[in-house]
Amino acid sequence: MTPRFPIAILPTEVAERIAAGEVVERPSSVVRELLDNAVDAGASTITVELQGSGLELIRVSDDGAGIPPDEVELAFQHHATSKLRSLEDLLTLRTLGFRGEALPSIATVADVELLTREDRHEHGTVIALRAGQVVRLQPAARQRGTTVSVRNLFASVPARRKFLTDGRAESLLVGQLVRRYALAHPTVGFSLFLDGRLSFRSSGSGQLAVVMREVYGSAVAATLLPLPTRQTDFVTMTGYLSDRGVTRPSRDHVTLIVNGRWVACRALSTAIEAAYRPLLPRGRHPIAALVVEVPPSELDPNAHPAKTEVRLSRETEVATLLAEAVRETLGCTPVRPIPDEIFLLGPGQYPLPWHRSSALHESEPEWRLDSESSPLAGIDFAELRVLGQVQDTLILAEGKAGLLLIDQHRAHERVIYEALLARNRQGAAEAQTLLEPIVLELKPAQVSRLEGRLTELAEIGFNCQHIGGRDFLVRAVPVVPGQESFLPDLPAILTEATADDKGWQDRLVTSLACRSALRRHQPLSVTDMTVLLSELATTTSPAVCPHGSPLIIQISRRFLERQFNW
Ligand code: ADP
Ligand code: MG
Repeated sequence: MTPRFPIAILPTEVAERIAAGEVVERPSSVVRELLDNAVDAGASTITVELQGSGLELIRVSDDGAGIPPDEVELAFQHHATSKLRSLEDLLTLRTLGFRGEALPSIATVADVELLTREDRHEHGTVIALRAGQVVRLQPAARQRGTTVSVRNLFASVPARRKFLTDGRAESLLVGQLVRRYALAHPTVGFSLFLDGRLSFRSSGSGQLAVVMREVYGSAVAATLLPLPTRQTDFVTMTGYLSDRGVTRPSRDHVTLIVNGRWVACRALSTAIEAAYRPLLPRGRHPIAALVVEVPPSELDPNAHPAKTEVRLSRETEVATLLAEAVRETLGCTPVRPIPDEIFLLGPGQYPLPWHRSSALHESEPEWRLDSESSPLAGIDFAELRVLGQVQDTLILAEGKAGLLLIDQHRAHERVIYEALLARNRQGAAEAQTLLEPIVLELKPAQVSRLEGRLTELAEIGFNCQHIGGRDFLVRAVPVVPGQESFLPDLPAILTEATADDKGWQDRLVTSLACRSALRRHQPLSVTDMTVLLSELATTTSPAVCPHGSPLIIQISRRFLERQFNW
């Protein structure tokens, strides 16, 4: 932990530069501020208690550094903080708080009692405030740490209280918040009690994989994929993410952790969603915890008054890298039959009340990153043996990884797609002149768009020429290492180039690959299939087709062993 400054009131020019705003909107915002303070105090265990959804009582206790007696009263002054002294400190800040606004703001809308003790002092201190005024301040006994009790929240602000009628919703929000903090701070053990009942606990194991299990349950956690660590000169990313078989109906289960804080960052969330989009059914969202580290100067935590949105200076770059990492992880993971128990958890449901999960804790081996949950681990294409073809459509192969069923059409699509991309990237697209040029008639709205893209089309191998009106003449097309002729589908393929967005080139290449690939219901020899698999092995995403659909089903040895009780 960084050494703390004594609490002091920020100089006006510093206070003025710090985004201010409403910090206390509802019970979960109080919990969030108190959690921030506990984490900043270096706590290793933090307990949150809620009575009456937080309107009666919110209590957060920690075993952190505590506050020295002579600073306790000061902590409730506006802009009083121990975390920063000058604006420059904002550039290297590692603490979650820095405004010195939380305690005074909470004290104006609730009755607050704070009991604290620093190690160096023999006694602790208790302070109580009503309507922002100190009503008690005296020595008191406590072990190292701090307990803040907030009672009668918004009792003096009836208008605010009136909007908080749905107690269940408030408790759910707090539940979600505490779980997110647990994910962002794996070394801290969090407990949440709702009306005296333990609702969530994390062990403080220090491992994100373990917290994922504590939050989502063993069954789901066992299916999560580790994101291989990525590192560039200014960003490092790791994390865990769900495979396409495990989804949630809301976006709430993607937790972004940037420089040790749980944050919302639209650019990053959008990039993650986009990476998943072709793989998930409409309205379903992934589960993920993604940990991003950038130099502190690249992150502006001061962008939003409630500290929820952060700004990253190289946001687009980070988003692209993150999306790439997610795409690659998913792209290398075959579909696996999912253990039945996952379906027992309703969609969106938080798994396992504590007594059950603690039982699992004891009876189950530590969740580890075994070969079953790492991408394509165990699938060594070189040692695969083709057993035959199923329905003239699927290649059945066997290896150490178990049984694999591979969709021949999608596999071939993937192979062709990557071959074309590689050529285009090297500027080495091959074109073949058509014996008879083809006339393409477009809709009026498409004409100017295609016209503007003729150079780019030429780079891919299409020689097209506008011959007036709505007509184009196609003189040459790319040479595609495929099996089928795509010429009959040329109009449909070129229509991709008239779309009103940036993704058209990729879709056009996908479309070329799709129409040139081996069809389904086509008998193949063992040699054909072996060659196809060896080509697939060299691609970057051998488990999904360029449209994003899975192309390998893996029935692992472990799955068979379990099913047959070997
Ligand atoms: P900030 O967190 O922005 O500094 P707060 O109003 O939340 O402002 O808290 C004011 C100060 O009180 C903090 O800077 C810190 O020194 C002290 N403090 C608050 N909560 C705790 C806690 N749980 N443990 C130790 N110190 C605390
Ligand atoms: Mg604070």
